[in-house]
Amino acid sequence: MGINKRSFDTLIIGAGGGGLRAALQLSQAEARVAVVSKVFPTRSHTVAAQGGVNAALANVLPDNWHWHMFDTVKGSDYLGDQDAIEYMCRAAPRVVYELDHFGVPFSRLDNGRIYQRAFGGQSRNFGGEQAVRTCAAADRTGHAILHSLYQQNIRAKTHFFDEYFAIDLVRDQEGYFLGALAIDIASGEPILIEAKTTILATGGVGQLFRTNTNALINTGDGMAMALRAGIPLQDMEFFQFHPTGIAGKGMLITEGARGEGGYLLNSAGERFMERYAPNAKDLASRDVVSRAIATEVREGRGAGPDKDHVLLKLDHLGADIVKSRLPGIRDTAMTFLHIDPAETPIPVYPTAHYTMGGIPTDRYGQVVVPVQQGAEEPVPGLYAVGECACVSVHGANRLGGNSLLDILVFGRAAANHVIEHLKDQRYHRPIPEGASDAAMDRLARWSKQGKGESVAQLRVALAKVMEDHCGVFRNEEVLQEGQNKVLALRERLNEAYIDDYSQVFNTARIEAMELENLMETAIATVTSALARRESRGAHSRIDYPERDDQHWLRHSLFSLEGNKMDYKPVRMKPLTVETFPPKKRTY
Ligand code: FAD
Repeated sequence: MGINKRSFDTLIIGAGGGGLRAALQLSQAEARVAVVSKVFPTRSHTVAAQGGVNAALANVLPDNWHWHMFDTVKGSDYLGDQDAIEYMCRAAPRVVYELDHFGVPFSRLDNGRIYQRAFGGQSRNFGGEQAVRTCAAADRTGHAILHSLYQQNIRAKTHFFDEYFAIDLVRDQEGYFLGALAIDIASGEPILIEAKTTILATGGVGQLFRTNTNALINTGDGMAMALRAGIPLQDMEFFQFHPTGIAGKGMLITEGARGEGGYLLNSAGERFMERYAPNAKDLASRDVVSRAIATEVREGRGAGPDKDHVLLKLDHLGADIVKSRLPGIRDTAMTFLHIDPAETPIPVYPTAHYTMGGIPTDRYGQVVVPVQQGAEEPVPGLYAVGECACVSVHGANRLGGNSLLDILVFGRAAANHVIEHLKDQRYHRPIPEGASDAAMDRLARWSKQGKGESVAQLRVALAKVMEDHCGVFRNEEVLQEGQNKVLALRERLNEAYIDDYSQVFNTARIEAMELENLMETAIATVTSALARRESRGAHSRIDYPERDDQHWLRHSLFSLEGNKMDYKPVRMKPLTVETFPPKKRTY
């Protein structure tokens, strides 16, 4: 029996904010769009975003996109591509007003304008006083955005494949991407989804680490699909550790809590960020605050009986502010810690949060690969947007509030580019015989019953290795050991089996394929981290503590074949303004 096949103009893999923003633009242009999501769309991880989305609306204090651009370049530790950063910061007010019109219930100022709060790394006048740039719907901004986008897509008649798992991309001998093979999770039936263009929007890979803020579904599937299709991943060594996860558990306490006036204390009750970032203090960039917390704990100034965390103090804000501006994090603290942050400080510690690296794209969302020294070219038919992509607007460290912006701006930009492309593509290119065989083999591999190691245990072991060997502070020896251990775990996965297939639901097969994806992205992350011998943004090497622009102001590219590293230049030239040249980064 042949595989079921459906045909669309565009296939979007992923129904988070990135995928849904792209889908909406395409559906409104009357393209035939399919969105595949392994969870029901409104359960995609965007729903968890708390603090808000950045745009220089100047609703609270003076602001403009030039200052936003400067902060983003500086926040990226000068590794961000300045053309893409300019494009994003200029487009920000427009995409936020669009959301307002789509029905996103933003919190309001007394004058009726969209509420904005301060977030880390934001400044006025190119590094001056704190700016107030993050547009918020209380502390449930992602929830508000995702639901509005989903409703707009239903209205625009986007076709959804809910709870379908994409296994791998399909392409022809000339390298054109022609869609993907997916499986209906409920029935186990495979389906070939044919498309003239495919957009990967599969989100990040926070599940690489044991303590993280991410949903269980964030397993880097799109990144691993790209790797298996021969596309290198860019800047994977840069993984963001958010300073304020609930200690020992990982759930996020938004930076918005510090934006509303909260601050961090060590065991002596000292406001220690004043020592690490005399100007920005608790609202310094995330990498800076995470390292400060880890240093306080390492040097014995941690709080609690085990001195293993610091405290986030909010009680001085008053119960009204905590309840109205931070209701979600109050709920989280009450549910998981049985404390009310309006009365008691929250124990916090850095937790794995955001994948800065990903599938390399240009600012139109086209996936690009190197062709010769320094030059690159688009891969035909393939786009990537959102956290799985690396445009790169976040460089070595993302600013809070810039990811929701990234997914909206580049979701929209990629869709606009696809709409142009579709004008010349009346027909589907033929799918060659056997194009989905490799994907079917992967599926078959996890349909055979046998005895071996448990997939679940290997996943736990991988997350522990990554946490121990690729965390906030790194060095050659620890990373080398980490790489060896990850490669050994990858080997062991080849021998693993789903124990008793008759007793398990289809999701066991999905979890096995997710673990393959995690293994591949883990190898990319630890290998890239081992190779980069400098400290920049979130990548902090204690054996190479300085940033080294002479040798390392360049993007890394990891290819699966031979676990090979390559490099390409940073696009330093913006679109219309002067370059922001690298400077020492202080807050
Ligand atoms: P996601 O929303 O993660 O969606 C991925 C989609 O891909 C899902 O639909 C999933 O089902 C689908 N998918 C994945 N693999 C497959 C597969 N194999 N087959 C089929 N479907 C697949 N950023 C901000 O700017 N401001 C904030 O306040 C903020 N708060 C945050 C709070 C938390 C707790 C976290 C974890 C992140 C936060 N971020 C924030 C970051 C931001 O929310 C994310 O980076 C962003 O939402 C990612 O969106 P996305 O569309 O790329 O992916």
